[in-house]
Amino acid sequence: MAKTPVPAIEGWFTQDANDPRLLGSQCTTCKNYFFPKESTFCRNPACDGNELAEVPLGRRGKLWSFTNNCYPPPAPYVATDPFEPYAIAAVELPEEKIVILGQVEPGIGVDQLEAGMEMELVLGPLYEDEEHEYLIWKWRPVRSASNAQSV
Ligand SMILES: [Zn+2]
Repeated sequence: MAKTPVPAIEGWFTQDANDPRLLGSQCTTCKNYFFPKESTFCRNPACDGNELAEVPLGRRGKLWSFTNNCYPPPAPYVATDPFEPYAIAAVELPEEKIVILGQVEPGIGVDQLEAGMEMELVLGPLYEDEEHEYLIWKWRPVRSASNAQSV
């Protein structure tokens, strides 16, 4: 039986398998982007804006930094038992100019990552229970055109 996919965190991303987007906010005054969403005031200290619009963020960015996480993460993350290390990537979105942290897709280790490479956002399971698969965003390197699986 297939489990029903549901977001692990409600309202942080769209659940479109082909084009998942993180949902951020943009200040209508200074045009800066924020993730996670801000709704009450602008985090830019030089701006007194208090109107923020929800916007889907770009799916691709440049790998800015990455590390190997060898320790079970704190709540609300649910660690696998036994714990399996995974890579964490910090990816800068070119248009929004913000850095988004996320797990790297399973099976892709730090030895396959290189600063500056282009990354894309995908959804993958964070954990599951009897009926549901709880999804979170993950980063993976953009596959070159020669071995792309889809168009
Ligand atoms: Zn602002």
